[in-house]
Amino acid sequence: MSSQTAGPIHFGPFEVTPQVFLTTPHSFALVNLKPLLPGHVLVCPRQPHKRLTELTAPELTDLFQAVQRVQRMLARHYFTSPSQQSNNNNDDHDDHAVGTPEAGSFNIAIQDGVEAGQTVSHVHVHVIPRIRGSTAKEQAGPGDQIYESMAAEDGNVGGALWDRELRKLQQQLGKRPEPGGSFPSIEDSERHPRTAEEMEAEAKVFRNVLEQMGEEPRQ
Ligand code: AMP
Repeated sequence: MSSQTAGPIHFGPFEVTPQVFLTTPHSFALVNLKPLLPGHVLVCPRQPHKRLTELTAPELTDLFQAVQRVQRMLARHYFTSPSQQSNNNNDDHDDHAVGTPEAGSFNIAIQDGVEAGQTVSHVHVHVIPRIRGSTAKEQAGPGDQIYESMAAEDGNVGGALWDRELRKLQQQLGKRPEPGGSFPSIEDSERHPRTAEEMEAEAKVFRNVLEQMGEEPRQ
């Protein structure tokens, strides 16, 4: 049985319909409000399960098939630069065709529960492309710190939304949400979440890439 319902799509408490670039019978993928790196997107079950152990076998299969489709789309969009190929001095970086998942790498992560850093209580798989010559581990920028960043202020969207939308209501709201996990950073909390327009534009780009690949972005 499909989990698909007509109408708006929610990620936890947030209505994210314009940010969604892929729907499948049990899952959807959306662009991120505060991406850690370019192409950082999320894949979620349509049912608002809080924890991974709540998913049925069909939901799990569908979720990770959607992750694979998103990887192929991101690879096609991001793993195409000739410069990333010329940076290829590692034997592991063999001659995979540009635009394929093997022409770069991915961080794929689930923070399953608040103690693991989960800030939105709706299961979501982080998919983060690592682009050779740009955002790969060996480049300047986050290497292995990506998981710390995810658990720290970079992923603290409760905090980001609080900053953006609710500063005026500080007295009523009380304490600002704290990020889960380690290494909170004051500097990161100053980062602004993206605008709805920016996110919609990116979702449109990703839908177009899927269509170019002969994929149906909405099911
Ligand atoms: P986690 O810390 O694992 O719960 O990750 C939450 C993720 O959701 C972060 O990457 C946030 O940037 C992202 N996020 C939170 N709210 C939204 C939203 N309204 N639209 C898109 N992404 C969001």
